[in-house]
Amino acid sequence: MMSCQFCSIARGSIPAQVLYESDLAMSFLDYRPIAKGHALVISKKHFGGLYDIDDETLYEVLRIARIVSVRINEIYRPLGINLVQNNGCYAGQTVFHFHIHIIPRYDGEYNKMLITAAKRRVKIDESDLEPIASEIRSALKSK
Ligand code: 5GP
Ligand code: ZN
Repeated sequence: MMSCQFCSIARGSIPAQVLYESDLAMSFLDYRPIAKGHALVISKKHFGGLYDIDDETLYEVLRIARIVSVRINEIYRPLGINLVQNNGCYAGQTVFHFHIHIIPRYDGEYNKMLITAAKRRVKIDESDLEPIASEIRSALKSK
């Protein structure tokens, strides 16, 4: 397989601010966040998208998406949270390894238009993401 960014994260060969993991799936902070706490949940095994992921892994990714979303909701109290899953470049998919976005929404002004918020984002250094990851990790451990 061609090199895949998320396979590298799953192997631990490139760094990420990991929030939670199990045998089949893991969650880490997106390095180009739409908002504070924007996280991804990926399968550890490579699947291109929704069309080829197996049911067991899909359910595990969704289970973890809920666990992480509940904690983000408790600690940051966003106005809402979007779970987003893109399939194909026309749907905005840029990393062709199955993942779900957890996107907290804070700002009433762009509440309806996720696409507007997505246009404003910038890449953040992993070290600057660390305090947010550590806050979410502590909340996950405390329950
Ligand atoms: P997609 O557009 O494919 O649904 O989303 C891919 C997401 O992965 C983007 O939001 C992008 O910022 C994020 N991303 C891509 N490569 C990396 C990486 O190496 N580390 C982290 N933390 N996020 C990544
Ligand atoms: Zn992959």
